[in-house]
Amino acid sequence: MRQLLLIPLVLSTCFAADNLPPPADRLLARAIFKQLIEIKSGFTTGSTTPVAEAIAARLKAAGFPAVDIFVGGAAPHKANLVVRYHGSGAHKPLLLLAHSDVVEAKREDWSMEPFLFTERDGYFYGRGTSDDKAQAAVWIANLIRYKREGFKPNRDIIVAITADEEGGGPFNGADWLIKNHRALIDADFCLNEGGWGEMSNGRHISNDVQVSEKFVANFRLEVHNRGGHSSMPIADNAAYHLAAALDRLAHYAFPIRTNEVTRAYAERMAKIQTGSLADDFRKAATGDPDALQRIANANPAWNATLRTTCVATQLEGGHAMNALPQLAAATVNCRILPDDTVENVQSTLERVLADKEVKIKIIGEVQHGPASPLRPDLMSALNRTTDSLWPSVPVLPIMVPGATDGLYFRAAGIPTYGVQGFFMERDDVRAHGRDERMPINSFYEGQTFLYQLVKTLSSSQ
Ligand SMILES: [Zn+2]
Repeated sequence: MRQLLLIPLVLSTCFAADNLPPPADRLLARAIFKQLIEIKSGFTTGSTTPVAEAIAARLKAAGFPAVDIFVGGAAPHKANLVVRYHGSGAHKPLLLLAHSDVVEAKREDWSMEPFLFTERDGYFYGRGTSDDKAQAAVWIANLIRYKREGFKPNRDIIVAITADEEGGGPFNGADWLIKNHRALIDADFCLNEGGWGEMSNGRHISNDVQVSEKFVANFRLEVHNRGGHSSMPIADNAAYHLAAALDRLAHYAFPIRTNEVTRAYAERMAKIQTGSLADDFRKAATGDPDALQRIANANPAWNATLRTTCVATQLEGGHAMNALPQLAAATVNCRILPDDTVENVQSTLERVLADKEVKIKIIGEVQHGPASPLRPDLMSALNRTTDSLWPSVPVLPIMVPGATDGLYFRAAGIPTYGVQGFFMERDDVRAHGRDERMPINSFYEGQTFLYQLVKTLSSSQ
């Protein structure tokens, strides 16, 4: 889940090395990162409990009292970690969130061992290096550094490293903590994955902060049929009903819609782009349908930002090579704009699939949170911290087409912002994919950025 930008013509200056954390803190962040990558926490085959336990052990070794460390979850193998670093209490706590599970990775799909932390050609490789164990490692390393430095925040800083963001479902740690241990994680606001830095050919383009996100609904499509012998086919075939309906879906696009965040984003892009693209962004910010269409056509990420999308992701059916299928089924994964509704999407699907033999039902529970307000304190801290580390690189508020655990927190009334400061090449997004990696420089720059940002947000401003 990544939002790609078109290239703005902004030249960025290099990150000054003297801003970096002391060598020992960089080593610590790297050591935690390595340790987390090498724990197999795939959401179907792995366990997040060893991640929580490893972090708890490091925190205890760094002097955090056991009473401030919580390890527990929806199942014995799906533990979460929550730690509290006490501040003066002048303000409500700040929650720092990252997830400890990863998308599955098979050795045969990768050019290297996915659960071995590998440093090569300026990158850290391994499943979770970009999603989301870098942020988890940095939150913990920075918390240990605050403690060692005797930093006295004006609010509690809570770090939660949670299970099953990727998997969702019954073991999702964010959902479980909100429902079962609200006091542990209750906060003024939350920083999470979902936003990061955009690079193009090594140039820093923008530091994206995610304030809103699409939400997910999965639908199961089923066609049942009495079947029969394949030697005597009939027209009424479950596979054909399903295939034809899916073909109609393939040719359908939901209408383009803008919202507060995408309009603000387009306005900002109009100022940093040049030529016809700048013109299109300017017009898009005012809702010009032709300009919006051109931007949506420019790349799949922009398209996904401007409309609800539904796509077939799984197929099943048939029970024998020589039998007419009695069942043909598909999963359709929908990414819904925050101001759209599940009901609207379902009725649109029924209309587009246009076959009453194709039964549509929603899978599981749908989480839908509101956009987070653009808090002046946060935006000011983001702008200042970004500018001090990467002069002239703008902070861009974005809505991402993916979905994160931020949904649960927004729905629970805790505004959540995707902020990382890890800069990645916009054309080299490997989260969930093969040979996932994180540029080494970006890891340490992100460590620096998050250290300063959290310090600013928990000091008198
Ligand atoms: Zn993630």
